[in-house]
Amino acid sequence: MKYDLIVVGGGPGGLMAAKTAAEDGLKVVLVERKRDPTEIRRYCGQVFYIRKLSASKAGLHGDGYIDPVAIELGPDKTRFVFPIPGFSLDYNGPLKPYYNWIEVSPSRHLIYRRKDTIWGFFYQKEAFLAGLLSSAQKAGAEIRPETIGMGAENTPDGVKVLVRGKSGEETLEARKAIAADGVSSAIVESVGLNKKRQVLGPPRQQRGGGMVCYELEGVETGLPPFSWVQFCIPSINRLMVVFMGQAAGDKVALGSGTEEVLRKFMKHPNFAPWFRHARVVKKVGCVSGAKHGILTPIREPVEGNVVIVGDAGAPTETWIQGAVASAYMAVKAIEKELNGQKGYPEYIDWWQRAFYFHNPDYFSMVLGMFALANAWSCDEDVDYVYNLFQDKEGPPQTIIAENLELIKPGRPELYERLKKGYEEAEKMVPKAGT
Ligand SMILES: Cc1cc2nc3c(=O)[nH]c(=O)nc-3n(C[C@H](O)[C@H](O)[C@H](O)COP(=O)(O)OP(=O)(O)OC[C@H]3O[C@@H](n4cnc5c(N)ncnc54)[C@H](O)[C@@H]3O)c2cc1C
Repeated sequence: MKYDLIVVGGGPGGLMAAKTAAEDGLKVVLVERKRDPTEIRRYCGQVFYIRKLSASKAGLHGDGYIDPVAIELGPDKTRFVFPIPGFSLDYNGPLKPYYNWIEVSPSRHLIYRRKDTIWGFFYQKEAFLAGLLSSAQKAGAEIRPETIGMGAENTPDGVKVLVRGKSGEETLEARKAIAADGVSSAIVESVGLNKKRQVLGPPRQQRGGGMVCYELEGVETGLPPFSWVQFCIPSINRLMVVFMGQAAGDKVALGSGTEEVLRKFMKHPNFAPWFRHARVVKKVGCVSGAKHGILTPIREPVEGNVVIVGDAGAPTETWIQGAVASAYMAVKAIEKELNGQKGYPEYIDWWQRAFYFHNPDYFSMVLGMFALANAWSCDEDVDYVYNLFQDKEGPPQTIIAENLELIKPGRPELYERLKKGYEEAEKMVPKAGT
């Protein structure tokens, strides 16, 4: 066969897979839908998380990768270290620490998810991907941009992938394939792995799964610097928060469901003064999560000769760091299989341990978010609750769930709405192992 490995998708997972396999001497072709794989069209917070943020229900962020990671800061380059898979990646783009994660109510009551401790770093995804792409190309991987992977089919001795490029359709054949085509993966669907997944939460349209983000200069918030900030303002946007993170230089990233929401937020009397001298310098969109709802993770990310990495197998996100870690582990597993050894069981075992989304607590947390969003009837509800809990540290949805009784005396009717929301969300949480 012409190739040992076909990689579908050139995001962090796909580029890392192509780099690792080519450096180890495999003949690799990667197909990517976009013309330039490093161009970011989908918004990403660009946080490199250095804490086990989601190690418990009261953890701080319920998605991604929970193996330990480390970061080595040098004068002109940074090294991201992944001790469990056993590799590191150099990076020389912009970098800024995150010290705080702040949740803000309409009248600016604050709940800290994280306070005065470095829990992550802003890094620039485009620069990170450029590093992976150049290493993959240097190692001899063939990169085919503007080419879509339509579907894969296992054969007795390998796999066929139908691709569509500028010159039409073509079938590529290889001994193995990696699906790294992101959250609504065509490859996962074509090999039948979605049949084993449950659909949870509202469809994308209802949960505000679209997103738009401005990069802004000249924003003056008065909040502690180096913070990730989320605003819950039901009168502007009930389901989807507005968030503000760091961007390169002195810029900030401000995102939410639609531009209308962002405009309203920037004109809100309690926040407008922050934007008096602000200027939008870039705009980027995003769809978040799969179309029909959140899918439970793939438990066994292997089907015949096709191996799944990154968001293609996740409910929402593996994070960039989880995508590269899974790509590395998948390639090592494939190499063993190609050498007649058993590599898949190890990969499956690692995949089930390395991502928090295999834990049912993850779904309590995600669905708790929807429960909350549905329970707020007005801005004053949020102000009341954030004011009540402003001395606690953690995600609002878990703080509220764990202290619901404290809301009852002052706001019995809000208490009932929240309780009902959580009960309904809990019914939707999948049982362990499904
Ligand atoms: C709103 C939001 C904020 C986020 N914030 C962060 C953050 O702060 N930190 C963090 O680490 N992660 C964050 N993430 C998650 C992160 O972006 C993903 O987990 C990560 O990019 C997953 O990498 P991947 O390679 O698996 O998939 P993707 O990054 O989705 O890459 C998939 C690639 O495949 C291509 N593709 C898709 N279909 C096909 C096809 N059929 N054929 C060919 N090519 C195809 C796409 O063009 C894309 O290049 C965020 C995600 C969202 C939605």
